Amino acid sequence: MTNFPNPRSRFIPSFFVAVIVLTFISGSASAAWKAGAAKVDITPSEPIWLAGYGSRDRPVSDVLQRIYVKALALQDDSGRVSVLVTSDLLGFTAGLSKGVAERVEKKHGIARAGLAFNASHTHSAPVVGELLRPAYGLGPAHVAPIKRYTEKLEDQVVDVIDKAIGKLKPATLSYEQGLAGFAVNRRRAGRGTKHYPSPVDHDVPVLAVKDSAGKVTAVVFGYACHATVLSGYEISGDWPGWAQEGVESLYPGAVGLFVQGCGADANPLPRRTVELAKRYGATLADAVDQVVKGTMQKVEGNLRVALEHVPLPFQTPPTKEELQWRIKTETSESRKRHAEYILEKLDRDGKLATEYSYPLQVWQFGDDITFIVMAGEVVVDYSLRFKKTYGWNNTWVAGYSNDVFAYIPSERVLHEGGYEGGGAMIPYGQPRPFKAGVEEIIANKVDELVQRVNGQP
Ligand SMILES: [Zn+2]
Repeated sequence: MTNFPNPRSRFIPSFFVAVIVLTFISGSASAAWKAGAAKVDITPSEPIWLAGYGSRDRPVSDVLQRIYVKALALQDDSGRVSVLVTSDLLGFTAGLSKGVAERVEKKHGIARAGLAFNASHTHSAPVVGELLRPAYGLGPAHVAPIKRYTEKLEDQVVDVIDKAIGKLKPATLSYEQGLAGFAVNRRRAGRGTKHYPSPVDHDVPVLAVKDSAGKVTAVVFGYACHATVLSGYEISGDWPGWAQEGVESLYPGAVGLFVQGCGADANPLPRRTVELAKRYGATLADAVDQVVKGTMQKVEGNLRVALEHVPLPFQTPPTKEELQWRIKTETSESRKRHAEYILEKLDRDGKLATEYSYPLQVWQFGDDITFIVMAGEVVVDYSLRFKKTYGWNNTWVAGYSNDVFAYIPSERVLHEGGYEGGGAMIPYGQPRPFKAGVEEIIANKVDELVQRVNGQP
């Protein structure tokens, strides 16, 4: 099932040796998976500010669709358990992921690398912690519900992981990709920017989980596109919410888990009506259904995991004088809030960050799927690059995972500039855009992790 050309071919001799040895010992090389999936409702119980747009001027007014955090626990042949968490949220913060991971490690003995936290990036879910704080004009009365929601959310994420682990039962896993076409490169859609290259990633990776009777119990599926059809004052999962609802109605009793990909520079277009959000959700659910009903590759072998942080350097941080000047002269409210936010940090810590400790994670499912899990809002170039490097058919690249703290531009996008290239550091409350060279730093670390998981037993 390895696709050529593929640099993993260098691992094949040892893989064959392992197959021969295992076949000799047990008569079969196939892994015995156990899987368990669960979901917990995270719809807020009080009015709260919704995440993602600086233009909103008041908290939520209604619930259009309930939102969830979901978990798929996987136990491989070696007995090791790993858990994928997905959510109808804008993003997990580093603090939330860390809080959950520490509690789960204590309770279940799962190391940090064995937990992956992904958010659908819906712009119709509550603000979590400090995420994008300078983007919003929040008063103290708005901050209190966010604090309460974030604290409760940590308990709910731990709870959904507990529930998924509690449901572990013998399972088979299979994988294949489909296609869906509603993501549009949004940098090209801007006024005067039609000259930008406009890559997109239309792949729909699907991992289907079946019980020993052959019944589908969970479907994990991905797509790379902003969840920004809607921009109003009602809670919903946006199109990923309706896609998951669609998958769950096609496979009654199964949990549908959506994984957001490298959709930082993609928007669902056209947009802004509930009808369109539902239509894109249905389109994706149909794409997933075609894959599940078609011929899928069986996923065998162990699940090997790795997670590491790599420092990404920012450009030279602003001085106190520059920040004070900006507070006095900025005409844009969000730029002014950014300067105040950064000055507060400078006064508190005595210095500003010159780099960000960036988490990268790789899960290798046997020889079948290389799952690259990236933090931040990752532009599509990374997904295309890693698929080209590690194999188009079995490389799955997730963005919006573990810590959403900034956009992650490729070298091309960083050079072109614009919102994804640097402008978004303002609403994210980071001191400056990244320095040139971040793409290579990231690609080198990903390569190191891919090689490491392939070298593991
Ligand atoms: Zn975004």
